[in-house]
Amino acid sequence: MRKNIVAGNWKMHKNQHETVALLQEIIAQKKTSTTEIIVAPTFVNLAKAVEITNGSEINVAAQNTHQAEGGAFTGEISAGMLTDIGVTTVILGHSERRAYFHETDALIANKVDTALKHNMRVIFCFGEELKDRQINNHFNVVEYQLRDGLFHLEKADWRNIVLAYEPVWAIGTGETASPDQAQEMHKFIRELVEKVYGFDIANELSILYGGSVKPDNAKEIFSKPDVDGGLIGGAALNANDFLAIVQGFE
Ligand code: PEP
Repeated sequence: MRKNIVAGNWKMHKNQHETVALLQEIIAQKKTSTTEIIVAPTFVNLAKAVEITNGSEINVAAQNTHQAEGGAFTGEISAGMLTDIGVTTVILGHSERRAYFHETDALIANKVDTALKHNMRVIFCFGEELKDRQINNHFNVVEYQLRDGLFHLEKADWRNIVLAYEPVWAIGTGETASPDQAQEMHKFIRELVEKVYGFDIANELSILYGGSVKPDNAKEIFSKPDVDGGLIGGAALNANDFLAIVQGFE
């Protein structure tokens, strides 16, 4: 059975004091649930987050990693450094990394390889821009992002892949894909993975939706058969909202 996951991408928000406070609130208010909860604070707060969440069933993810094992890359963080402090999940390919840091599909594919080599689980983000949807090219764009970013992988690698379909026009805009639009794309994605890697891998794959998920729309989006959870930005910065979204599966 594939896993339901709700992951919070905290982006460049929350200093250490605020990180601790938010995690303590989430841990205190969290109900028992079969949905996996992941939080992704900034790099400088990851070690603290691992310490605080220890024993809480909340997993901690990084928002990025470098593709090299190490070396003269000022300002960067390697996959080995992340696993060394107990961070075994990483978000790669987020649209903000693609847009503001010029990450290409080829670079992201490299990062995926490095993360997998370190036995990390990758939350691979992708999704079309508004202009692609307006000309009905969104399925093509998504297909190429997946082909170029992930379809070089071996079957066994897919155990450590989670997909996050995030239409760029819905991120941080308050504009959400309708539950039917999300389902339509998630079904397309699962069928594409099935064509290349077979039924078992496609059927076990968790495909998250991201883009202005809030407590009032989560339940309907999560009720769709090919939506296995969400990657949450803004609403993940508040414990009540984040946990209300997790409850969308109950
Ligand atoms: C995101 O950045 O991955 C995201 C989905 O943001 P928001 O929920 O704020 O749209």
